[in-house]
Amino acid sequence: MINIPKGTKDALPSEIYKWHAIEDTAKAVSDRYGFREIRTPVFEHTELFSRGVGDTTDVVTKEMYTFLDKGGRSVTLRPEGTAGVARAFIENGLAGGAMPFKVYYLISAFRYERPQAGRLREFHQFGAELYGAEGPSADAEAIAFADRFLREVGVGKAVRLHINSIGCPICRAEYQTALKEFFRPHLDEMCPDCRSRFDKNPMRMLDCKEEGCKKFTSHAPRMLDYLCEDCRTHFEGVKALLTRAGISFEVDPSIVRGLDYYSRTVFEFTSDALGAQSTVLGGGRYDTLLSQLGAKPTPAVGFAAGIERLILLLDALAVPVQEKHVDCYLLGMDPSSREKAFLLAEELRSGGLSCETDLMDRSVKAQFKYADKLGARFVAVLGEQELQEGCAEVKDMQNSTSERVRFDGLAQYIKGRN
Ligand SMILES: [Zn+2]
Ligand SMILES: [Zn+2]
Repeated sequence: MINIPKGTKDALPSEIYKWHAIEDTAKAVSDRYGFREIRTPVFEHTELFSRGVGDTTDVVTKEMYTFLDKGGRSVTLRPEGTAGVARAFIENGLAGGAMPFKVYYLISAFRYERPQAGRLREFHQFGAELYGAEGPSADAEAIAFADRFLREVGVGKAVRLHINSIGCPICRAEYQTALKEFFRPHLDEMCPDCRSRFDKNPMRMLDCKEEGCKKFTSHAPRMLDYLCEDCRTHFEGVKALLTRAGISFEVDPSIVRGLDYYSRTVFEFTSDALGAQSTVLGGGRYDTLLSQLGAKPTPAVGFAAGIERLILLLDALAVPVQEKHVDCYLLGMDPSSREKAFLLAEELRSGGLSCETDLMDRSVKAQFKYADKLGARFVAVLGEQELQEGCAEVKDMQNSTSERVRFDGLAQYIKGRN
């Protein structure tokens, strides 16, 4: 017996309707905001992530699935979606097309993490990216899009939006100096991760989850007090638009996001329904990523949501999700009725209905049981008598009534009552 690899999960047919509901909503909402789908490879050259995601992040230093292919090249299973989209944008010369460039993706991504609830080694994301617009309206549109997606999935009431600005490289440099001065006297008492972040990226110390570190980080200087004039105006613009659009948020200085490429606006939608404030969707602006990867400077903003987390949230909140059922089961009582049932099923399918009929030579009783398991809305029973009359005895499985319906009126009958 070969088992599933640690940190991976099957999405079984009995649960798949939840995945479809989320994916269908993602596609429909993307459409309304003018975002089109992009599909990029599952693996890329390792260098794309070390340069794009940043080689000081946990994702790159500890969690990547990296291996040499048979040609001896180092390749990596994507740990997130943003870097691959940026690579595709540059490589295909898309900056020459219509701007802003707006895309979404539904992907699986890979991180070698210690598996825990809602955190898998292969996980799935819905993400969106918007390139070319540097004004606050682009940030506001990305946030409004994310907010609408979560509401339409059905988890809107259980999530809260936190936003922050982490400034630009210029004002952040000044802030990081202040932050280092603040942390320097306490470094001995902080965790090894924080000590290594101190030199490479001190802002990452702010979202350390170690209790011993939190007592220092909670008193640390705030980036918001160091924003330059341009960054401050930008952040005020984002907040004003969100307020006018009726999207509620709180400014939260502890939101820094885990990846190096962010600048200015960062945001997270969190929920308490999955235990202590977990992030359901996160994103922000990353104006330097494209130039880091060799493009001309191109402002960008985006977000990603974890699909497994959303499913856990739907379950935790008991959100009703529409499950697809069979419209009609065609039950033949004898060999010639079975054949007629097979042909009628084909006819109904041509008319757009979902049907099943017996493929296992089951008894009438066993067929009824099966139809019930399928959640069939109607069961059309055919026997010798029915074949002669050109009718089926159609049982409504919801209220147990039944009616005689002519074969040629069957599709219409079911559609009219569905
Ligand atoms: Zn700035
Ligand atoms: Zn720490």
